[in-house]
Amino acid sequence: MSKKFWDENLETMSENAMQAFQLEKLKETVTWVYDRIPYYKTAFDGQKVKPSDLQKLDDLAKFPFTVKTALRDNYPFGLCAVPMSEVVRVHASSGTTGKPITGPYTAEDLDQWTECMARGLWAQEVRTDTVLQNAYGMGLFTGGLGFLQGAMRIGCAVVPSGAGMTERQILLIQDFGADALCCTPSYCLTIIEAAERMGVDLKKTKLRTGHFGAEPWTVEMRNEIEARGGIHAYEHYGLTELMGPGVSFTCEYYNIHINEDHVYPEIVDPETLQPVALGEEGELIFTALQRRAMPMIRYRTRDICTLRRVKCDCGRTLITMDKILGRSDDMMIISGVNVFPSQVESVLVEFAEVEPIYQIRLYKKGHIDAIMVETEARKAIYEAGPEKIEEVAKKISAKMQQVIGINVPVKIVSPDSIERSIGKAKRVIDQR
Ligand code: ADP
Ligand code: ZN
Repeated sequence: MSKKFWDENLETMSENAMQAFQLEKLKETVTWVYDRIPYYKTAFDGQKVKPSDLQKLDDLAKFPFTVKTALRDNYPFGLCAVPMSEVVRVHASSGTTGKPITGPYTAEDLDQWTECMARGLWAQEVRTDTVLQNAYGMGLFTGGLGFLQGAMRIGCAVVPSGAGMTERQILLIQDFGADALCCTPSYCLTIIEAAERMGVDLKKTKLRTGHFGAEPWTVEMRNEIEARGGIHAYEHYGLTELMGPGVSFTCEYYNIHINEDHVYPEIVDPETLQPVALGEEGELIFTALQRRAMPMIRYRTRDICTLRRVKCDCGRTLITMDKILGRSDDMMIISGVNVFPSQVESVLVEFAEVEPIYQIRLYKKGHIDAIMVETEARKAIYEAGPEKIEEVAKKISAKMQQVIGINVPVKIVSPDSIERSIGKAKRVIDQR
């Protein structure tokens, strides 16, 4: 029988022991950045706080936040604490919202990242005899190599299929007997749909687990993927600024455990920036605890989330986070109501008449911001004609009104007319 935990000591530590460990690492990290990175020296001095002011965990609240623009202003390596001779890898975010964010790693950073990934994948049933198909994009994006490294450390058979060439993905699942599939949830849905179209029943293949992340997805979407793919859908969360994936992972009970020995989490009110209590929603903030090349201090992720101390049946004591509601950048304010794409998704996925494929359009109606959702009819509904389509659209719209509290017109388009995702799905099209 194989061991239950990848690293039992660290995964099941008592809260007190973890906090003592975190405090020690935090002290080291604030000193490390203050002494080596001019940006942090200026930022700490500006807030009249010194590394020695950190005497207990709560003292971290005295330290300045780090925001995305600091990374952009210091692009590419201004926040790097070590000389290039000590950097062994550089990743970068996709940079869809401006210049990419860089992520340099020392050999030690890379090793720790690999451990975090192995820990998560191990919790998700990946073992040495697993055939793991890695369909995350390989390259600058942290997903592809992050999953590769973690899987290699466990020692399973990795099939680095990369993102795209969907029919070949299905062929490989069948021919190589993949048990585990790693990709974004939206790409998994693309694969499921393509398999259905090709007449391949994924439930009859060896595929049993999915290791999904890199974008927000709802529980409703997870249920849909599990039912149609015949898999257990696990989750990973992370960001380039921290390490990439590996920040947190779900166990078999769907609780998302944070690797809190590597990243120290806080939640703050995004308006006042004051800490909020466990169980309350706010913006997720992380401080790196063991990084050397580019440790982030109180990094504002812009991800909206809730932290909880749950007693998880898996035995892990690592703190948990709820599913990400969305990025604050993606929050839409329509008729004074805050709306996240995930809320639209959770309603849409409940309707069997449409595919769980959608796009949200934002446009101007006179001077007012307006929203509209496009989703695809299932073939039978589409063939039933315009009246049926209209009826379904009205039904979905009414449910949106009930759940989200605003009028969201729904347009049902023909099957296969919305572009399929192979990586991070683009949900919002801003035409304002
Ligand atoms: P980019 O900003 O270009 O997307 P990253 O690949 O670093 O670059 O993306 C990190 C972001 O992706 C996170 O801050 C979060 O918004 C999103 N993300 C990653 N994993 C998840 C997940 N499991 N659930 C929700 N959002 C996620
Ligand atoms: Zn658990």
